[in-house]
Amino acid sequence: MTGSHLRPETDRRQFLKLATSLALVSILDVASPKRAAAQAQTVDPKDPLAVSLNYACDGATAPGHVQGQFCTGCQLYSGTGDAKSGPCALFQGKLVCAGGWCKSWVKRAT
Ligand code: SF4
Repeated sequence: MTGSHLRPETDRRQFLKLATSLALVSILDVASPKRAAAQAQTVDPKDPLAVSLNYACDGATAPGHVQGQFCTGCQLYSGTGDAKSGPCALFQGKLVCAGGWCKSWVKRAT
């Protein structure tokens, strides 16, 4: 006996189910900001933008750092809770260290 035991309609139905499931997984993956943040890379301090802004993951060591200023207190930082890093509006698609700093620091509105 050769070939599939399934009829063509069954094969087509199974294919559509699989394609729909894969599409749904892709949409959920993209739509999850938490997952997106988890997949994002931390800013490389040698990145030209980071260098131009004097960014350092250990903010206290950044040239020109002002005592008490860190990414967690910056208006442009959107990390949550106790996360060690989070998104910054200046570094799209990457994460900055919660204890980082750069010269574009803006006091977070209260
Ligand atoms: Fe950190 Fe703010 Fe500079 Fe972004 S703009 S790197 S959050 S200090």
